[in-house]
Amino acid sequence: MSLVASADVTTPRPQGARPYPLASRAEHPEDTVVQVGGVAFGGQRVVVIAGPCAVESREQLMETAEAVRAAGATVLRGGAYKPRTSPYDFQGLGEEGLELLAEAGARTGLPVITEVMDSEDVGLVARYADVLQIGSRNMSAFRLLRRAADTGKPIMLKRGFQATIREWLLSAEHILAQGNPRVILCERGIRTYDSEYTRNTLDLNAVPLLARETHLPVVVDPSHGTGRSDLVATMAFGAVAVGADGLMIEVHRQPGEALCDGKQSLSTGEFGALMAGLRPLAALLGREV
Ligand code: PEP
Ligand code: MN
Repeated sequence: MSLVASADVTTPRPQGARPYPLASRAEHPEDTVVQVGGVAFGGQRVVVIAGPCAVESREQLMETAEAVRAAGATVLRGGAYKPRTSPYDFQGLGEEGLELLAEAGARTGLPVITEVMDSEDVGLVARYADVLQIGSRNMSAFRLLRRAADTGKPIMLKRGFQATIREWLLSAEHILAQGNPRVILCERGIRTYDSEYTRNTLDLNAVPLLARETHLPVVVDPSHGTGRSDLVATMAFGAVAVGADGLMIEVHRQPGEALCDGKQSLSTGEFGALMAGLRPLAALLGREV
């Protein structure tokens, strides 16, 4: 955060009242720290969430979970309900995937995060997950946001791929206004005009901007933000350099065989290299990873 402030030449001041009083930094100057077991989002330590895009099998998940934990990840991810553009693509294992995630979490000691796509599934997903993920396609599903908020679980709210920062903060406000203060924001890229080379445009402006605008922790997902495994580590470093509180990284034991998002998934070896690169960078910034 100190890097962010010192890099500014001028400091534009927010004008007038914000439409998101609960999310606004102006009304709540202190950083919010969202505690998930022993992991703190919004503290000095950069939280690394890692795991496969989708839970595919027990072997795949356990092997990946052990590998990311050994490399230094502190939260395990894995999708059981996958929001796929095509109805013919793998849709996730559903409840079986949730059971496997909980098992992998218990085995590794890592808290688990997984997406809840539908308000009907909130109770079920909340029984297994430590953090509920609201996906990009559902950022504005306000009823889902309220139902998820009612569980009292921490909620990671991914930015809608077509959402402005204001719309995103207003979605966070829906969760806060429902009485759940445990909100983590996740920048995951927005759709711009070039889809030939990258899947999305990772908006790193959002990170220092949100640090001014809100007290909520901000995670960056360079996997969906780029759609390319060869860009993930560099953009992860960039995210930490601009002040991200955490990273979400897709990792697969065999990216070429992944049922979902293989092109943007790191192998376990590549993830280890990313973690090794992050440590000195975090230290330089007065942080830990
Ligand atoms: C995911 O994290 O697997 C995912 C589907 O992300 P997004 O909602 O950002 O596309
Ligand atoms: Mn994915």
